[in-house]
Amino acid sequence: MSPTLLCTRCLREAPAIEGAVFYTPALEQEVRARICVDCWNEWQRAEVMVINELKLNFMDAQALPALIDQMREFFALDAEGSRPAPNAPSSLPPDVNLKNPADDESE
Ligand SMILES: [Zn+2]
Repeated sequence: MSPTLLCTRCLREAPAIEGAVFYTPALEQEVRARICVDCWNEWQRAEVMVINELKLNFMDAQALPALIDQMREFFALDAEGSRPAPNAPSSLPPDVNLKNPADDESE
């Protein structure tokens, strides 16, 4: 049975990535710790489109950093996970800081 993790992209407890190939060891550590195999498989499909769309040529030194950028964005790796439930409804209405203009009689 594969180990599971709480995926920071889909927010599910899901199987970890197994046997994938990563671009850099640091990225590998980060992605394996945070991303489940289902999201990884989604990236594998997206990656092909990204490479085609950006016309990435891996003979070009800029191609890999560009692809890694796309991957970080795809997995939201840079949205530091301080909030485990980003879709939780807020109890505060968005205009809670607006004062009622009728209260302002100072002029
Ligand atoms: Zn996931």
